[in-house]
Amino acid sequence: MNKLVDGFGRRFTYLRLSVTEACNFRCTYCLPNGYRRTERVEFLTVEEIGRLVEGFARLGVRKVRLTGGEPTVRRDIGDIIARVAAVPGIETVAMTTNGWNLARRIADWRAQGLTNLNVSLDSLDRETFHATTGHDRLQAVLEGLDAALALGLRSVKVNAVLLKDTLGPGLEAFASFVRERPVAVRFIELMRTADNPDYFAANHVGGGVVRDWLVQEGWSPRPRERDDGPAMEYLHPGHAGRLGLIAPYAAGFCDSCNRLRVTARGNLRLCLFGNGGVDLRDLLGPEQDAALDERIRTSLFGKTAGHRLNLGEPGDTRNLSQFGG
Ligand code: SAM
Ligand code: SF4
Repeated sequence: MNKLVDGFGRRFTYLRLSVTEACNFRCTYCLPNGYRRTERVEFLTVEEIGRLVEGFARLGVRKVRLTGGEPTVRRDIGDIIARVAAVPGIETVAMTTNGWNLARRIADWRAQGLTNLNVSLDSLDRETFHATTGHDRLQAVLEGLDAALALGLRSVKVNAVLLKDTLGPGLEAFASFVRERPVAVRFIELMRTADNPDYFAANHVGGGVVRDWLVQEGWSPRPRERDDGPAMEYLHPGHAGRLGLIAPYAAGFCDSCNRLRVTARGNLRLCLFGNGGVDLRDLLGPEQDAALDERIRTSLFGKTAGHRLNLGEPGDTRNLSQFGG
């Protein structure tokens, strides 16, 4: 029984949990100068994560996505996956990763309970990938992706942030990429954060450009299913995979919001582009289940109808590595 309902009647079955703020990449739109630790902070432990997820599961959450920062820079990420997968009621354990060590680790993670994987891959061109992420690792990420596909996880998807340079040949390259591979590549419209206003102004491209291109190339929208997220996906008869679009600036984007976020410090964020959060960490000890459930449940009434990105207000989100995107 789902007990997580906000003041607008939206139900929450999906938790995005950041397990670290640290990252080994320097994506130009997220952490252009790399991750810098500015204070001594301990991120949630495996046991705290377990108790937190148990709380959300008691309230009706069925899907957890591990994210970051880069979740796989944590040496205990396998233990985290196993702990979350063992929580009664959790049916889907997903992770979003930049893919740097995927080829080596994915078989273990799957055995530990990972069911769904999203790999961030902004370009299929080696130079562009290097320039965007700060790492000349395109080949390694592609090998990891193919290893994941071969393992038969329930779902493997690619996220590509839509940047001015990705357009044109970039879209064509991704269309060729999914011709034989049964994978969904979703273009995510660049989001403005507190750290990146100049970058945003120079690189943002509206999702409508991709939508027009897809239609022109013969792609047709896939009928939406009940638990679909915000991505609109497209099919093409000659392609095994799918292309899609996540357009957070489009009207109505927040209406079907079904997700909550918790930061690596144990702070419940009601909106990716909101302000502040609700601390849960003090309730992650033994014998605090009832208090934890009550705080999560009542916090939901603070959730607003939607973000205010269109008004140029990204809330206090400095960059997405803080909260997992
Ligand atoms: N490090 C992991 C990764 O890159 O997959 C997980 C965390 S990352 C913050 C999650 C997703 O957010 C990635 O797909 C990334 O490309 C996306 N992202 C980061 N900053 C963004 C921005 N300003 N606009 C749109 N997407 C962004
Ligand atoms: Fe790291 Fe992911 Fe941000 Fe890139 S998008 S800098 S991989 S957290």
